[in-house]
Amino acid sequence: MRLQALLTQARHQLIESLHLAEREAAIEAQMLLRHTLGGVSRAWLISHDEQALTPVQAESFQALLSRRLRGEPVAYLLGQQEFYGMVYSVTPEVLIPRPDTETLVEAALAHIPADKPSRVLDLGTGSGAIAIAIAAHRPRALVTAVDRSHEALKVAAENAAKLGTNNLKLFQSDWFSGLSGDRFDVIVSNPPYVAEGDPHLQQGDLRFEPQTALASGPDGLNDIRIILENAPAYLLPGGWLLLEHGYDQPAKVASMMLNAGWKQVSHATDLAGIERVTLGKNPRD
Ligand code: GLN
Repeated sequence: MRLQALLTQARHQLIESLHLAEREAAIEAQMLLRHTLGGVSRAWLISHDEQALTPVQAESFQALLSRRLRGEPVAYLLGQQEFYGMVYSVTPEVLIPRPDTETLVEAALAHIPADKPSRVLDLGTGSGAIAIAIAAHRPRALVTAVDRSHEALKVAAENAAKLGTNNLKLFQSDWFSGLSGDRFDVIVSNPPYVAEGDPHLQQGDLRFEPQTALASGPDGLNDIRIILENAPAYLLPGGWLLLEHGYDQPAKVASMMLNAGWKQVSHATDLAGIERVTLGKNPRD
């Protein structure tokens, strides 16, 4: 079968099985085929669509496609995901970086000076995407990134090395447990924030992602509570905390912060206009 026909067939199967929109299905079919062909460009694929796959290629494409049709996320099948202009390795040990989280990076960068040294902490770094994006855009900052999971830290270390990050320190810590006496100008986190019984955990990509990176108690706020309680002791005077949270949590997180004395509490919105991030200034100032 020629590439063109193969793509059309795969697109139809993706629409049928996963209820993807036409365009998304077309993009995914191309991504899977490009990966099968050793990472050829989209332009190559389009200009060679009269060619056929070898039997070995055809078999590995079908294997990849059937895993996708059973719901496995594209990012895990390809082993990579683009985030904030860079491509990260991802494995099922880490949450897949999402466009929503670029809002957190943007908001953090607005609080980190480009022209002088500062100290930044990323809690629960996973693939390292947030920490590495910040480190890349603020070469004068020293970024510390921690995670409870050793497996996640391996992925983050691989990404840091691959992307040439040299202002990043990675180490194992369950939230603040391993951070003796360190203080930071900016603390960021995309913690787990989905409520334990939320049906979304049984849908789409989330089914295949680490549940410990997604779910956080009956209201989804257990980890955010822990972070809010402990963060002031790790902030320098004038320091900021920025937290990503669910689309339905901005008011709750803001009132938790205001009750605990955080200053200048506000939100940052994602591309869809949803208040995805809540930030505040050191309550001990
Ligand atoms: N944004 C993710 C989702 O709901 C959740 C990520 C998280 O819990 N930090 O799809």
